[in-house]
Amino acid sequence: MAKQVMLKFTEVPRLMPEKRAADARTADFDEIYSQFAQEKANEQASRCSQCGVPFCQSHCPLHNNIPDWLKLTAEGRLQEAYELSQATNTFPEICGRICPQDRLCEGNCVIEQSGHGTVTIGSIEKYITDTAWENGWVKPITPARERTESVGIIGAGPGGLAAADMLRRAGVQVTVYDRYDRAGGLMVYGIPGFKLEKQVTERRNTQLAEGGVDLQMNVNVGVDISFSDIKAKHDSVIIATGVYKSRDLGGPGAGLNGIVRALDYLTASNKNSFGDHVPEFESGELNASGKRVVVIGGGDTAMDCVRTAIRQGATSVKCLYRRDRANMPGSQRETQNAEEEGVEFVWLAAPKGFTGEGDVSGVMVSKMRLGAPDATGRQSPEIIPDADYVEDADLVIKALGFEAEDLPTLWNEPELQVTRWGTVTAKFGTHETPMPGVYAVGDIVRGASLVVWAIRDGREAAEAILKKFDKAANAIAAE
Ligand code: FAD
Ligand code: SF4
Ligand code: SF4
Repeated sequence: MAKQVMLKFTEVPRLMPEKRAADARTADFDEIYSQFAQEKANEQASRCSQCGVPFCQSHCPLHNNIPDWLKLTAEGRLQEAYELSQATNTFPEICGRICPQDRLCEGNCVIEQSGHGTVTIGSIEKYITDTAWENGWVKPITPARERTESVGIIGAGPGGLAAADMLRRAGVQVTVYDRYDRAGGLMVYGIPGFKLEKQVTERRNTQLAEGGVDLQMNVNVGVDISFSDIKAKHDSVIIATGVYKSRDLGGPGAGLNGIVRALDYLTASNKNSFGDHVPEFESGELNASGKRVVVIGGGDTAMDCVRTAIRQGATSVKCLYRRDRANMPGSQRETQNAEEEGVEFVWLAAPKGFTGEGDVSGVMVSKMRLGAPDATGRQSPEIIPDADYVEDADLVIKALGFEAEDLPTLWNEPELQVTRWGTVTAKFGTHETPMPGVYAVGDIVRGASLVVWAIRDGREAAEAILKKFDKAANAIAAE
């Protein structure tokens, strides 16, 4: 009888790749998890029970064929595992690093319910594609034939780039316009290197450029070129501009120096990691070095800010959140990483203003408690009377989430249909907007979301566009 390779979860315990010690990892911006060694990856993949109905797969936004690539990995057939993995995911090594797996694939792995700990799907996905890069299995994009149709994509984040990749592979002429100087969107300028090292995104940008995708950087649509000019240049247009309007905080002292927006702060840090000249970082305006830092917010952006501040050499870093740990939106894994690195969480604490003269010196804090559950069952925070205090701070970072910019006004395109939240209206599945030939994907449609959802949208929009192009070409051929 053939040797059983899989179903090893009862004998092989769950293991994550080694995590660097907190004091070592806070000394740099490198990723904190090391790579699996081959035998560990094979062993961990062999824990999968090869479910007939794989809940991991149905809860992966890309419906990755997880059980099959786990089996191929367990059997040591890594190149085939890579081929299968990349068939459904444009950037598997990126998702393997930064998807909140505990809420998606791994959070739905059935062996956890029997008390054995989930299969480490994300780490194995990362391992497979990193190995593919090392071995030269990731091939340049070489379309079988060139097509005449062209698509203009506004925004070089994961949504725009996933669409660009798929369209270019089909031979379409693709131009991506972005107002930043580097492609990657929030993958390069939002997410810090300790979660996703810069070279991981950079090598994908190089692959796209070498494959013929025209990456036009430093082009702010609505300023350097109009949306209508882009529309006139291309057969189809995809809007993939993300959401960048920061939610703000008012209250006394809100205009003091030293109160900054999370994305400004993270962008400056990420640019500095590239070795760029960043005046706001060098002047100390967007640099936590030697400062008492208070970050306001409890989501993943707040976690990235606190951990960046620690690495920049802040003297203390506190995170204020108005609910408790169980009710915070950020990933528990990232919160734990932050705590290990020396961040102090102040739960049930809401800012009501700021102290200081000219420069901020503290945050006025109201202590909160969780009240009765609302209609959704979530407990609303309410202020505890007479319990206010001041949290000392030299730098306050506001990480309260993002909203869509007002694109119809910015682009002078009143016909562009948006929802009451400012997100662009697009059809589920095809991502067509009511404006003919115009599609929209990623955060600008969903609101602040995840890289993996942007990739899915980009791929779906590319498929819909290709279908349209084929239909039009067939109609001409039939005439
Ligand atoms: P974006 O990545 O925002 O890209 C949009 C691009 O459009 C940008 O490059 C921008 O410069 C460009 N653009 C915008 N307007 C214009 C214009 N007028 N002209 C030209 N170009 C324009 N997701 C995860 O899955 N895991 C994480 O760990 C994670 N961490 C995050 C941490 C932070 C700090 C933030 C802010 C987000 C994080 N996210 C994470 C969310 C994730 O980054 C986004 O959901 C994802 O990047 C959205 O992709 P997108 O392509 O829609 O937009
Ligand atoms: Fe899990 Fe994300 Fe990979 Fe899907 S893409 S398998 S959700 S890590
Ligand atoms: Fe394997 Fe878990 Fe997916 Fe089942 S749910 S196929 S055990 S990874």
